[in-house]
Amino acid sequence: MVTVSIDRFSGFCWGVVRTVQIAEDQLAATRAQRNVYVLGHIIHNPKEIQRLEDKGLTTITVNDFPRLANTGAKVIIRAHGEPPSTYRAAWEHGIEIVDATCPVVTKLQERVRKFWDQGYQVVIFGKYDHAEVLGVRGVVHDQCIVVKSVDEALATVDMAKKTVLFSQTTMDRPTFLLIRDALKGRVAELIVDTMEEIATEFHAKDTICGQVSGREAQLAKFAAGNDVILFVAGRASSNGKVLFDVAHASNPRTYFIESTDEIDPAWIRGMQHIGISGATSTPQWYMEEVQAFVEGLCATEDVNV
Ligand code: SF4
Repeated sequence: MVTVSIDRFSGFCWGVVRTVQIAEDQLAATRAQRNVYVLGHIIHNPKEIQRLEDKGLTTITVNDFPRLANTGAKVIIRAHGEPPSTYRAAWEHGIEIVDATCPVVTKLQERVRKFWDQGYQVVIFGKYDHAEVLGVRGVVHDQCIVVKSVDEALATVDMAKKTVLFSQTTMDRPTFLLIRDALKGRVAELIVDTMEEIATEFHAKDTICGQVSGREAQLAKFAAGNDVILFVAGRASSNGKVLFDVAHASNPRTYFIESTDEIDPAWIRGMQHIGISGATSTPQWYMEEVQAFVEGLCATEDVNV
């Protein structure tokens, strides 16, 4: 008997649930006007983007502000947040902002601002062009260093300066810890080199969101407990990549898909237990569609042999 089950710990994180709910509320309240916009894709999932666009949500960039000036437009800021310059630009153009920034990201921005105000060199473990990092960079007027690896950190961070390390909320913790340890090691080397207690200070703030890191152990268990895993996420999803790697490490027969038409029947042929999981931006309704699709495939003779 073939089972096709959905990982009960997968699906939207509470930050995404909140953002989508805010968008739904705005769309319901302004159905006739069709004046609800979102800055950048509301989440990194093409299926959910399409569902909300069908309800009237329009994706824009800041470059659209002049066109929308004083038209009664409502612009949603998504969970990733925005730099302060976006709020200023909206105000200048008479555009109403509906702020759906995830509170975890708001907290990160506040902590970064606090250290930067105190003269710290700010280092962010993250992706330079990721929307959340763009917001954080804006908070410190782009006066920070963004690194993705230990090598980049060692090559670019001057540990003779007082320094604080943060993380983009959706990065992986093992790499964050390696970067932290490498920078700590550099401080120790500096002390030996200068033969004196240098005045540097180093703080490492683990700002990886528990909604991502908390899922890793459960996902590894779920992946190991199934013969094959279909990991459903948008390709632009940062935590999708992190969580896919976790599942793949636990079960090499893990396949990344964005939609059902990418499923190769050979992946599931002869398998007894098929698991479906996803990122924090993967909607439950789409994982259920994948489940129904796979059950349909399993019902065909071709796959069951
Ligand atoms: S993963 Fe965490 S930080 Fe990102 S939207 Fe979800 S709750 Fe917020």
